[in-house]
Amino acid sequence: VVLPSGQTMAMHTRTQDEEDLPHATKKFTLTPQRMRMIVEAFKETLELGLAKPKQVVPMIPTFVFGWPTGQEKGDILAVDLGGTNLRVCLVTLQGEGKFEITQTKYRLTEEQKQEDGQKLFDFCAECLKTFVDTNLADENSGLTLKPGEKLPLGFTFSYPCSQERIDHGELIRWTKGFGAPNTEGHDVADMFRKSLAKFLTAIINDTTGTLIASAYVNPKTKIAVIFGTGCNAAYMERVGDIPKIKNLGIDDEAAMGINCEWGAFDSFEHEHLPRTKYDTVVDETSNKPGEQAFEKLISGRYLGEILRLVICELIDEGVLFLGQNTYKLEVPYVLDTAFLSLMESDPTDELLMIIGIFTHFFAVETTLAERQFFRALAKLIGRRAARLSSCGIAAIVSKMGYLEEGCLVAMTKIRKDAGLYVNV
Ligand code: BGC
Ligand code: MG
Repeated sequence: VVLPSGQTMAMHTRTQDEEDLPHATKKFTLTPQRMRMIVEAFKETLELGLAKPKQVVPMIPTFVFGWPTGQEKGDILAVDLGGTNLRVCLVTLQGEGKFEITQTKYRLTEEQKQEDGQKLFDFCAECLKTFVDTNLADENSGLTLKPGEKLPLGFTFSYPCSQERIDHGELIRWTKGFGAPNTEGHDVADMFRKSLAKFLTAIINDTTGTLIASAYVNPKTKIAVIFGTGCNAAYMERVGDIPKIKNLGIDDEAAMGINCEWGAFDSFEHEHLPRTKYDTVVDETSNKPGEQAFEKLISGRYLGEILRLVICELIDEGVLFLGQNTYKLEVPYVLDTAFLSLMESDPTDELLMIIGIFTHFFAVETTLAERQFFRALAKLIGRRAARLSSCGIAAIVSKMGYLEEGCLVAMTKIRKDAGLYVNV
């Protein structure tokens, strides 16, 4: 390399070669033995969270009692504040496990995630008002409310909240990159109620919502898992097996939903999960270092960033894109997790979709060998996330003894669709 001063500098110019993949494979592979150890540690963590308050994996009692019958009927409004979108829905339960849903989605900006909490809830309330005005006040929509008719409103808030009742939820901590001040430690149902100045009946975590909604349609459902911007699970527990709420005088035989908040598994201590140096960087540069250790290896907010960090390291080593301008790839979080699934699913021999991603979004040229390498990396990162998730599910299944009879695990996942994330 010739420096501006006219001096020359030797630079090592290894190209991306067949050794890079075995190295990466080793770093990102979870063996069955390791997985068994994780499942055991996971089970102990679940039990600890049920036994004592304020644990890292908090195993939050949801005050959602028992399963739905599937025969419930009626109209319900729902606001869902997720990691990426705000959704407003009108759900009509028709009985026999059937329902209809009308919904509008609003994308949240990164600024909104950091501004004052009350402002965020004001925005939710505004969107709800627009939705009601457009869909329910319109005589042509077929959904018109009768004068004076009131609908119950549910609030799906996909962050860890400790609950004392169904209409109460104190935010333990923001996750998924949210940082809105004046919200942690507050009752978010109350904050939202202030914004609404109206009637709010329930606050629920997205996992609990998925659990009940899935059981409404299919009574074999026992567990619900979210694979979205964040990752978490809920299931139904016998009240007698939740030692930390014994003093509430609830019948031991009653069933109550538990929001595990398993994304926090292995937080702070980092003694069970295999983390690479890329995972450490993701964690340490996040707005909540140490927290959500399990989630940071699995969920949509982070997987693209892990791949980007591997690529950036190879750029730094002079192995990739030598002589090309790579500034577009050097911005944290530009490599969307959706790209990973696109890369994995590229059906062409030449990996044309991957060419498209790198030229269109990052303005760099790739060789076929490099594209094959990126695709293999994307698969490795996804496979590790899948194996870790299965450890969490295995822990609940085995703790609850569902192995013999089998059970249905409901899930909400993110998928790539026309350039947008969609929850399905
Ligand atoms: C939150 C959970 C939520 C999950 C999936 C996590 O970051 O802590 O409350 O269920 O994301 O949305
Ligand atoms: Mg969601």
